[in-house]
Amino acid sequence: MNSDIKLLIVDDLPDNLLALEALIRCDGCAIYQASSGEEALTLLLEHEFALAILDVQMIGMTGFELAELMRGMEKTRHIPIVFVTAAGRDLNYAFKGYESGAVDFLYKPLDVHAVKSKVNVFVDLYRQRQEVKRQVTALEEARRQQDMLLAELQTAEHELQDALQIRDQFMSMVAHELRTPLSVLSLDTQVRQRHLEQGNSSFFSAPQLTHMFSKDLRQVKSMSRLIEDMLDVSRIRNGKLSIRPSLTNLSWLLDRLVEDFSNLGGESAITLTAEPDVVGMWDEFRIEQIIVNLLTNALRYGASQPIEVTLRTSNNAALIVVRDHGIGIAPEEQERIFEQFVRVADRSSTGLGLGLYITKQLAAAHSGAISVESRLGKGSAFTVKLPLNR
Ligand code: ADP
Repeated sequence: MNSDIKLLIVDDLPDNLLALEALIRCDGCAIYQASSGEEALTLLLEHEFALAILDVQMIGMTGFELAELMRGMEKTRHIPIVFVTAAGRDLNYAFKGYESGAVDFLYKPLDVHAVKSKVNVFVDLYRQRQEVKRQVTALEEARRQQDMLLAELQTAEHELQDALQIRDQFMSMVAHELRTPLSVLSLDTQVRQRHLEQGNSSFFSAPQLTHMFSKDLRQVKSMSRLIEDMLDVSRIRNGKLSIRPSLTNLSWLLDRLVEDFSNLGGESAITLTAEPDVVGMWDEFRIEQIIVNLLTNALRYGASQPIEVTLRTSNNAALIVVRDHGIGIAPEEQERIFEQFVRVADRSSTGLGLGLYITKQLAAAHSGAISVESRLGKGSAFTVKLPLNR
């Protein structure tokens, strides 16, 4: 009985049930029979009926009593009811539940045409109601989808606005960072020009020139680094950051870099403790970039305290640690600083917030990783892990 429309007929006389069923049979209808009010109630709770045809004069629960019970239950309240009665038409109003749903009457002896047309009316009504219900559900679903799309659109719009804001901030940061070394160069050039015009040859003595060139070189390097960083970020974004591994001696590389940084004459002493000949297939240029970034930060944020660099191997990986004893990083910032453009607020940072982002991507490109341990006011230790065999 899987038909879409279910009809219930209730009569305590089996012959009547058979006769009625034969009369109301229709395509797509399933007819359920009940020989008492109680049996009918059980069926009513189990199924959803389009129509109930109730014999009024049944022994036990009468058709009217059953109808009143039906009107009292939420599930059955709106099922249209057709009473079958042999009594005169004046009995028609003995049932009081009209207001809750459709009610009609059929009179015995049953007229074939009247029964068929009444049932058809209710079946059609039920079908229409089902169709309306289906359309309402479809409409609600469409509205839900529309709301979801709208929410997605709003999120995308917010993201776009955030991205635009980041781009604007980035442009102004870049402009600011480039302007500083450029202004220094421009000022120095003007000073030199004036000395030249005044014939002040002592200003251009060999030691003076050496000093000038190294100062100029510093400004140029700082600008080149900035531009390289920006190019790297765009390479990372486009998935074009390439690694060219070759046999690299990490111990030698660290030795050279620590010496270079020490020769810069900064206030922090830098010491290196390295296992000898830690060798692997890495991109030497990129590994140098990682270490330069970490050492630059250690100098920048290291409060002029000593900096320790160590290199050791463990579990088939090389571990480089750059430790400073400077201002440190608050726990809530320790993840964020590896994201692009993130600079810890309230610090006079001169960077773009790109160094650690690039460093992390470079480590990842070597199938390695970078992590930090830090305490505010106590210093930071950045550890780079590079697999020895890739
Ligand atoms: P930036 O170029 O601004 O230094 P980085 O990506 O290298 O960008 O670093 C992001 C932020 O992380 C810095 O602005 C700084 O606040 C913090 N930071 C990085 N290294 C250290 C360190 N050794 N000690 C304390 N803070 C650090």
